[in-house]
Amino acid sequence: MSNVPIEPTPDTNIGASATEQIVAALTQAIVAHRLKPGTKLAEQKIATQFGVSRTLVRQALFQLSQHRLIAMEPARGAFVASPSVAEAKQVFAVRRMLEAEATRAFVRQVTPKQIKVLQAHLKAEQAAMACKDDASRSQRNELLGDFHVRMAELMGNQVLAELLGELISRCSLITLMYQSSRAAEHSSEEHVAIVQAFAHRDEILAVRLMDEHLQHVQAGLDFASPVTTPTTTSP
Ligand SMILES: [Zn+2]
Repeated sequence: MSNVPIEPTPDTNIGASATEQIVAALTQAIVAHRLKPGTKLAEQKIATQFGVSRTLVRQALFQLSQHRLIAMEPARGAFVASPSVAEAKQVFAVRRMLEAEATRAFVRQVTPKQIKVLQAHLKAEQAAMACKDDASRSQRNELLGDFHVRMAELMGNQVLAELLGELISRCSLITLMYQSSRAAEHSSEEHVAIVQAFAHRDEILAVRLMDEHLQHVQAGLDFASPVTTPTTTSP
């Protein structure tokens, strides 16, 4: 195997510990689909790439396993997780519960400034949608997930933002494994409609649109034919 497709990003992570930087870089690589489910993560290679000890890499991998993005297998090492169909359905069920209430709370306290932040995010999504190359596709997937996290961040509830961030990372992995082609195309349009409901402070409509949106994303998954790499271990 060649280099792990991760990039240390010291410029954007000043102050973060080496472990946090590795966690952030690996999460980004998984979410952007540069690291696919089942890919083996060699401690030594990551340690060399980051110029750190294997102990620090092991700590980062342990954190990622707690977020369920990585599976640690005794005597075999760390692999990018391959969520099962049952796990995928459970993750989506929790997102629907959490995001219904988050949306309700958000629309009640939303400010014009927050609407502007979300509208700027929508512009970035649409720009990424317009390009069809692989890099834009990765960026698009990241931006689509970030929309939901940004909303939680704007509410100023750090616990909610962290919880949603973790769930959405897990969803990205699930999307990579089970998403049928062109299923992501509607997501950005649905985000636009949700932000419009926010702007009109229409709580009932916003909550309904968010729930329908999450149902559509789930409906776009094809559990019959998961996409996995040849190195995939257990389902
Ligand atoms: Zn979405």
